[in-house]
Amino acid sequence: MKVAHRIVLHFPPAATDQPIIYRLSKDYDLVFNILKASVSPQEEGLMVLDLSGEEADYQRGAEYLRKHGVQLQPLVQDIRKNDDRCVDCGACVGVCPTEALTLERPSMRVLFDPDQCVVCGECVPCCPVEAMELRF
Ligand code: SF4
Ligand code: SF4
Repeated sequence: MKVAHRIVLHFPPAATDQPIIYRLSKDYDLVFNILKASVSPQEEGLMVLDLSGEEADYQRGAEYLRKHGVQLQPLVQDIRKNDDRCVDCGACVGVCPTEALTLERPSMRVLFDPDQCVVCGECVPCCPVEAMELRF
């Protein structure tokens, strides 16, 4: 049976310079389409992709990723910033890998650009007032 998943991959620093995605295709016969990526050598990386193939191959490919320390999570549907709650503390700006959250100067307001967001969820736990809301 064929399956298709949209997933977020979190790469540890040691895995960012390895041809892991290439291996998924070559060794596990999976088809991938990278939607967004933020990966630098020797730093943690993040990638959003569509991955499809036979169910058994997908499971083996997922196991291969986990063995290399790559975390998989299903892509959640949506994220929004609740401006009524946000106190512009800036804590989320530093954790956002894609600069979807930025500090506007000189107003010092934190702005959210949904087009840059890969819905990784990193900003959610770091917000002290729960202004970043995940919607499933
Ligand atoms: S979920 Fe949050 S941290 Fe992740 S890309 Fe979107 S705004 Fe940035
Ligand atoms: S961490 Fe929360 S309160 Fe602080 S700027 Fe980000 S969204 Fe606003």
